[in-house]
Amino acid sequence: MDEDLSAATRCVVAGREAQPGAQVGAPLVLTSTYRAGGSRIYGRTEHPTWEAFEEALGALEGGESLVYSSGMAAVAAVLSLVPLGGRVVAPTAAYNGVLSTLAHREEEGTLTVNRVDPTDAEGVIRALEGADLLWLESPSNPLLEVADIRALAAAAAQRGVLCAVDNTFATPLGQQPLALGADLVVHSVTKYLAGHSDVVLGAVVTGPTAAGRALRERLARHRTLHGAVAGPLETWLALRGLRTLHLRLERASANAAELVRRLTGHPALERVRYPGCGAIVSVDVAGGAEAAEAVCRRVRLWVPSTSLGGVESQVERRRRWESESAAVPEGLLRLSVGIEDVGDLWRDLDSALRG
Ligand SMILES: *Cc1c(COP(=O)(O)O)cnc(C)c1O
Repeated sequence: MDEDLSAATRCVVAGREAQPGAQVGAPLVLTSTYRAGGSRIYGRTEHPTWEAFEEALGALEGGESLVYSSGMAAVAAVLSLVPLGGRVVAPTAAYNGVLSTLAHREEEGTLTVNRVDPTDAEGVIRALEGADLLWLESPSNPLLEVADIRALAAAAAQRGVLCAVDNTFATPLGQQPLALGADLVVHSVTKYLAGHSDVVLGAVVTGPTAAGRALRERLARHRTLHGAVAGPLETWLALRGLRTLHLRLERASANAAELVRRLTGHPALERVRYPGCGAIVSVDVAGGAEAAEAVCRRVRLWVPSTSLGGVESQVERRRRWESESAAVPEGLLRLSVGIEDVGDLWRDLDSALRG
């Protein structure tokens, strides 16, 4: 694809077939196998609907992508690159599925984990010596902490440590970790990329270099052999969602910035967390768990639910999950701001906060 196309145009055209007579919408192909003699063999190994989505996401991230059955399947594929007994440097607070997987792998003795504060670059760099993988998530879920990906990826590369960045929150429109020096980008496609709260899907993106291609081959083999393959319908829906990613994010981010302006200093809140961009805002409700739960019961327009990144605004008290990091305050509500009218969102949230 044209190198100089803007990200918005890429969202619309990437992965689209160009030959005369080609269908303009991506093909939704339902087949488990292919007639012998061609380049495709079996539906667990290759699929035309995956290829369209993978080309589109690769074009947005500046690399080559592989789609998986979920974000966690993508995480598991990246962790498969760590040798048995290897060491992972990972944040103390991040997406709780990733933290739980690392804790489980540590308990069974197949990995060791160094937990670090990703905002303390020197501390992270000290932990890198002899490690196999640096795991970053920036901004992080749900504390919205920001890591210096460029500095940390460079330090990892110097020490021969692979660097993976979970880019679910920022999306490729917010940052492109490969260009910042990361080796691997992970997405819960379930969230912003698909964007309509109707699919569970994941992806890994690798760089367009020889080293990136070698990683991609190992990941593709893991996908084929472990079988965490994406359904064609889910992949097709995700590509359809991706076509409007730039518009959805533009509106959701503008809504989030306006809500942050109005929420700052709100009498029901102790703190507003916002990295200055994106559409996730976390707020610490005064009065802790009980007060925060009451807000979730009182909202009418906001949807009390787990997950994020859909067109609809969602709210969740994260510590309702036992697996959530203890670094997350009991009264923290994660707000995933959607694309509704911001005045309506504000009235509903403000009245729920006031009780
Ligand atoms: C949701 C999420 C995941 C896991 O993705 P699933 O699609 O739910 O498997 C990973 N990382 C982050 C940051 C997430 O928010």
